[in-house]
Amino acid sequence: MWVVQVQPQQSMCIGVIKISSEQFTIEQFYNYLSEGQIMAGKCEQCGKSHLPPRPLCDKCLSQKFKWIKISKDGKLLTYTTIYVAPQQFQAMVPYSVGIVQLERELKLPGMIMNLSENQLKIGMTLEIDFNSCKNTLSWPHWTRYCFRKPEQE
Ligand SMILES: [Zn+2]
Repeated sequence: MWVVQVQPQQSMCIGVIKISSEQFTIEQFYNYLSEGQIMAGKCEQCGKSHLPPRPLCDKCLSQKFKWIKISKDGKLLTYTTIYVAPQQFQAMVPYSVGIVQLERELKLPGMIMNLSENQLKIGMTLEIDFNSCKNTLSWPHWTRYCFRKPEQE
């Protein structure tokens, strides 16, 4: 794993709250997703990583973070299979959504592609896929990743 240091571009003051233009927000998280990267916010004070990033550390209340790139490999922690879906997902029924354990104790929820319910096993290796979800236009605009079985090398 490698670490990306993001230079703060500029700061502006709104009242007494100082806001950097490189914010540790969900929006910035999705910007990175659109570039095919899973980025977490690592607290510079206590070292706790947050995914999705948040502007305030829930462990030490620090607001100092740096971006770190997270490996796209993880293990399936839990899943559920959907048979009755919201309208925009009805064409995909049945499909499964799971929570995947990534490095640094991080967990990420998402849809699992191309695996039926009886192919899923708790603890199996899944990877984050940035490509196969892009062509389903009816998805909400912000959904930019899903999980799949890693390709054999
Ligand atoms: Zn902290």
